[in-house]
Amino acid sequence: MEIDIEAAVNEILEAVDADREAVEKDLRKFLEYGVPLEHAKEAVINKYGSVVKEKKLKDVRVNERNMCVIAKVLAIDEREVEVRGERRKIYRGLLGDETAVLPFTAWKDFGLQKGDVIKIKNASSSEWEGQPRLSLSEWSEVEKVDYDIDLVKRPPQKYNLIDLRPGLSNVEVRGKILSIEERVVNIGGEERKVFSGIMGDETAKIRFTAWHDFGLKEGDVLKIKGGYIRKWRGAPQLIFDENAEVEKLDEEIIMEERIVPLYKIVEAGGGIELNIQGVILDVRKDSGIIFRCPKCNRRIRNGVCEEDGEVDGVPDLRIRALLDDGTGAVDVIFNREISERLLGKSMEEYLKIAKEAMDYGIVYEEIFDKLAAKPVRVKGDSMPSDFIITIFASDAQTVDIDEKEEAEQILMQLEG
Ligand SMILES: [Zn+2]
Repeated sequence: MEIDIEAAVNEILEAVDADREAVEKDLRKFLEYGVPLEHAKEAVINKYGSVVKEKKLKDVRVNERNMCVIAKVLAIDEREVEVRGERRKIYRGLLGDETAVLPFTAWKDFGLQKGDVIKIKNASSSEWEGQPRLSLSEWSEVEKVDYDIDLVKRPPQKYNLIDLRPGLSNVEVRGKILSIEERVVNIGGEERKVFSGIMGDETAKIRFTAWHDFGLKEGDVLKIKGGYIRKWRGAPQLIFDENAEVEKLDEEIIMEERIVPLYKIVEAGGGIELNIQGVILDVRKDSGIIFRCPKCNRRIRNGVCEEDGEVDGVPDLRIRALLDDGTGAVDVIFNREISERLLGKSMEEYLKIAKEAMDYGIVYEEIFDKLAAKPVRVKGDSMPSDFIITIFASDAQTVDIDEKEEAEQILMQLEG
């Protein structure tokens, strides 16, 4: 049987960092002595095994162990965290080499400084924001090397709009400008033109802001490289400036209404023009008949507005409900018109019921009985909220059982 020397040498070089010629010479020698191929390979690996092969950052995957990496510290900061009830310092930052830039966490003080080029032995990796993050632990060895390394600019990562979440940077997206408006803002005494609007692709819509005049127009389909994502008004926003690359594409994007699983919205921290569906698991206690100030529209309590003092309250009907689709949960707020439609009863009728019972609580109870466990489909935008993601409904309807099954199938497909 012919032995494929080249393949065996390649396998050895996968495992160890050594000179190809030397490896091939050693391997042939073992084979000439009649050592079986597998043993011969092992022997050569053992011979060079004390040298761990360096891994390039672009080849680092999630959950790898025992890696050797040479990289430059591009950024580092120190912070205190609590680990099992104990305060300890950790160091976080970015490491770069010729192939990529990755975030890292050091669980002990290796005395790292920005600009250091270091060789790390026994590094591991975990997942953070969908990409690998290097971890330097007690068991890692770090030594400074005395040369510099060239850095590549990390290539932008491609995302669908539905997957964008605050904190991402250097993203590449493709989308169609659905609306755009120009404003002039004053920054540090200097007037600057800002363009903002809404962009969409097949998966979602997102608000954007361009800090540079790229000559964008409504209807343009663009590829944007080098944008970043911030949270604004309770939803992710795509931002790009003169450092970004913007290319007009000669293609069309067809947007269809797709039901988005709630976990995607929870991960993104919100979204706009969302189509969602789930089951109402709770009706929040502040639902029902409320009274608003006729001057400022704020909700008032006991006839007093915190802004305008004693006023004649105007009744309103609204519902805040917890919607769950099995993948995640959000709060949804229904205004009077949508509430009346969902409940099949008008606010006037509820006011009458409440006055007869001399208790507004009765309205809450009826809403709870009518809506709890009901599947509903909702359109709307998320709004700023401190706790759970809250969606202000622009439309909503209850869903019958067949449609519910269909929606579950859509969900399963979306989850792959
Ligand atoms: Zn008021």
